[in-house]
Amino acid sequence: MSVKVRFAPSPTGKLHVGNVRTALVNWLFAKGQGGSFVLRIDDTDLARSTPEFEQGIEDDLSWLGLTWDERYNQSKRFDRYEEAAARLKASGRLYPAYETADELDRRRKVQLSRGLPPIYDRAALELTEDQKAAYEAEGRRPHWRFKLEGKRVAWEDLARGHAEVDTASMSDPVLIREDGLFLYTLPSVVDDIDMAISHIIRGEDHVTNTGAQIEIFEALGATIPGFAHMPLLVGADGAALSKRLGSLSISDMRDQGYEPIAITSHLGRIGTSDPLEVAESVQALGASFAFTKMGRSPARYDTADLDRLNAQALHVMDYLTAQPRLQTLDADLGEAFWSVVRGNLSRFADVVEMAKIVRGPIQPVIEDAAFIDAAAALLPEVIDDTAWSAWTNAVKTETGAKGKALFMPLRLALTGQAHGPDMAAMAPLIGRETIQRRLKGEAA
Ligand code: GLU
Repeated sequence: MSVKVRFAPSPTGKLHVGNVRTALVNWLFAKGQGGSFVLRIDDTDLARSTPEFEQGIEDDLSWLGLTWDERYNQSKRFDRYEEAAARLKASGRLYPAYETADELDRRRKVQLSRGLPPIYDRAALELTEDQKAAYEAEGRRPHWRFKLEGKRVAWEDLARGHAEVDTASMSDPVLIREDGLFLYTLPSVVDDIDMAISHIIRGEDHVTNTGAQIEIFEALGATIPGFAHMPLLVGADGAALSKRLGSLSISDMRDQGYEPIAITSHLGRIGTSDPLEVAESVQALGASFAFTKMGRSPARYDTADLDRLNAQALHVMDYLTAQPRLQTLDADLGEAFWSVVRGNLSRFADVVEMAKIVRGPIQPVIEDAAFIDAAAALLPEVIDDTAWSAWTNAVKTETGAKGKALFMPLRLALTGQAHGPDMAAMAPLIGRETIQRRLKGEAA
């Protein structure tokens, strides 16, 4: 069987780390198996879906390197859903119900007060043709429910192992609203059948849906695909992330300067037994992905891990990869410069500050002028790779200063900052003349 998966976002909001993790795991699984990845825009809800969100989804996935092999919009496939609905109606599995939301609510309250589970009582199945006609004459339009068999639906879940849902404990799901809108449940199954989806990979919040949807696959005479339901993400504090996801959008993370490979390495590896290290590429991540490595407990999403992976991605980035971006930021000072500073970057754009140290002007910080004058007098004639250690040794001998008392005043005088890249490597890039001027306290 060839592997084919789908990511099916609704274009009703921005992609966030939660749904991108679903997209990513689908992609990693498919690519690891030599399979294909379908992007399916779940836009049956025409009122809430927007072209801007749809474009945003494509932009975010492309930026992360999650390319798709096929792409569909559910809004262009209503005829297929109508056809499936007609088949289910004909076989008696899809039935009209006329209750209003208020009526259903009242019934649920009565059930709860009697200690009964608030499951739809299927009163609509008892309606006679005359009663239905009377409702229609009143102007009521039916919504359509799928008649569950009410049984134990079982499957071998790639992420959870043996899984079971008892559809007897569920209300018959509404597939079509009274205004004719197809809710997510049926179009999803119809598409999964038409597109020959081999595996449905999604969050464990969909486990109950899967029970109902497997019954729909069966009712439509289709082969049941494989399933994987991933544990959800929790925050670093262990609390559910769902409410905070809005503030963790991929476009915001892009604006904050995160590297796509840091995001994909993070989301692809949290909650698995693989070490949280940055991958060489998203393809490499796919080659090492396996559901057997995924734990059963929630995956902990900690921004501190992402920050660490982001720095790691920059530390190993080669000059050729960095160069176009350095040019865009007007900070391309050559390969030697990049090799020195990359280890000090948290975000790529930090390189601008580093370039300023080399190019100037920076305002030197000099607290002890006598010490700096003594150092200036000892500055070697040639500032090469060994000049820094020769110089600082000479300054140490002359002044008796050592450790932080030796190095910090020199760093502050030459860079204006208390922290930064390795001075031994920076000094030749700054150059003797500029060093001399900064040691005199000039902005240079
Ligand atoms: N549009 C659905 C969602 O975003 C898709 C769920 C699924 O993967 O079946 O929740």
